[in-house]
Amino acid sequence: MSLDYVKFSNGFEKFMPKEYRDMVEHGPFGKKVTVSQMGSFKEVLEEHPMCAGCAMTLFIRLAMIAFPNPEDTITVGTAGCGRLAISQAAIPFVYGNYGDQNGVASGLSRGLRLRFGDKPKDVVVMAGDGGTADIGFQQVLHSWFRKERFTTIMLDNEVYGNTGGQESGMTNRGAVLKMAPLGKKFEKMDMLQMAKVAGCAYVATVVPNNPRRVESVIKKAVLIAREVGSTYIQAYTSCNIEYAIPTDKVMEDAKTVENDRYQFTEYVSDEAKQYLTERYGYKEFLAKPTAPAAAIPGKA
Ligand code: SF4
Repeated sequence: MSLDYVKFSNGFEKFMPKEYRDMVEHGPFGKKVTVSQMGSFKEVLEEHPMCAGCAMTLFIRLAMIAFPNPEDTITVGTAGCGRLAISQAAIPFVYGNYGDQNGVASGLSRGLRLRFGDKPKDVVVMAGDGGTADIGFQQVLHSWFRKERFTTIMLDNEVYGNTGGQESGMTNRGAVLKMAPLGKKFEKMDMLQMAKVAGCAYVATVVPNNPRRVESVIKKAVLIAREVGSTYIQAYTSCNIEYAIPTDKVMEDAKTVENDRYQFTEYVSDEAKQYLTERYGYKEFLAKPTAPAAAIPGKA
């Protein structure tokens, strides 16, 4: 895909805002940047109005660095804290009504394929646990059952942070919140299992304090969604305000939660493994060579 559309017309460069010039000259478009190079290039997400120390913003920032082709990626979101940051990024963002993000992404993904043929135009939904598991649940599940080819990322902060602390389907049983003072009476929804049952080709859980892992799962999910089918990532992105986590303890909390109940998990369908290996050279899914059989004494 030509990058000409993010460049300047001859003679217009000096009239463009500095931010735009910086993005064209020092941004990630057309380059292969990695999270280990953070700080050495201009990121598509630099400023946001979210709370200081919010883990969600770190995760979103890492995810956007991991997109295989940020210049050809469109994000889709819905009401919630995450969209405050996602909508500030220097790539297209579509904001649906509350909960319809997977319906919007289904139409968008299909339309882009018709319009651009086999040139990849990646669609990535990023929405909170309320938008994904509660209010948008029906459209999320149906997009998975229909094997719509885009990635759904749940920013799981286990609460409605944006509206002051109501329990969500992803809140843990027993959790006491500002607007759930008696404690949640039901279990956290098992969206990972539902994603597998609904036929997602790739399902993973991550926390943001392992940037390389976040990068790895996002890349795989987006690449698989291009041709194989729906992919789902569930990221623990704590709400330090509603769970009263001190700003300087946010990463420590993420590590504790990862060790306790949010371990890294990854499911990759056989078709997706084959696709990643053959199309993108992923070696981790190559069949392991079997050890030669031990010689039997007395036999040639
Ligand atoms: S309310 Fe919670 S999730 Fe929302 S921006 Fe603040 S810390 Fe992050």
